[in-house]
Amino acid sequence: MKKATIPPLAALTGAPADRMAQLKARLADAAARGGHAAPALVAVSKTFGADAIRPLLAAGHRLFGENRVQEAATKWPALMADHRHVELHLVGQLQSNKALEAVQLFDAIHSIDRLSLVRAVAASIDRTGRSPTLFVQVNLGAEPQKGGVAPDGLVALLDACQGAGLRISGLMTVPPADREPAPYFALLADMGRRHGLAQLSMGMSADHDIAASLGATHVRIGSALFGGRAVMDAKK
Ligand SMILES: *Cc1c(COP(=O)(O)O)cnc(C)c1O
Repeated sequence: MKKATIPPLAALTGAPADRMAQLKARLADAAARGGHAAPALVAVSKTFGADAIRPLLAAGHRLFGENRVQEAATKWPALMADHRHVELHLVGQLQSNKALEAVQLFDAIHSIDRLSLVRAVAASIDRTGRSPTLFVQVNLGAEPQKGGVAPDGLVALLDACQGAGLRISGLMTVPPADREPAPYFALLADMGRRHGLAQLSMGMSADHDIAASLGATHVRIGSALFGGRAVMDAKK
């Protein structure tokens, strides 16, 4: 099914804090339509500096996402020193050699997707005593440029996580950009149910309401809050 081109966020206006309030209302509505609780809104601040982030912190928002360890490590310690109880999620791909730094900095990692990373994250958790919430990313569209375990590799990866002592809380996906997202979100929800994984990280600016109506527990929203990004990410 090709994607319908309805710009769902045309109605969002105003300062970042106002857009946040409108988004939260939209998410609550969409979730209720599907019989679900409203998902947590992860404000994805990648490529945006402290000036863009501070208004959301000032408005009381505390849940943020970044897609690169290095960028987050330069931006967030200062912001966290000024604002307590920030929860920082890594939503982008993670290299094994950055696992230790990621486990130290982030409260959740959405991109566990291969055995080498499972081992590196398990070792980092043992070493630091920290316990970030972990999602396994599933590459439902089998897109070579995207992270995520192939659907037919999910069971083996979950087994490996268990073997390594890693507690996985949920699944994450980024559906193919040119496709109708609903079937992918429904499939991820189904996989979560089958494996007893209650958390579902799915939905971005363009499809957050669809994801919420299909049971997302975390939506990851960047451009709808912060505006367009100058540089597109090569990998998601
Ligand atoms: C950038 C990014 C987002 C946010 O994307 P928007 O379309 O700007 O909302 C969500 N998830 C991941 C993995 C990303 O890299």
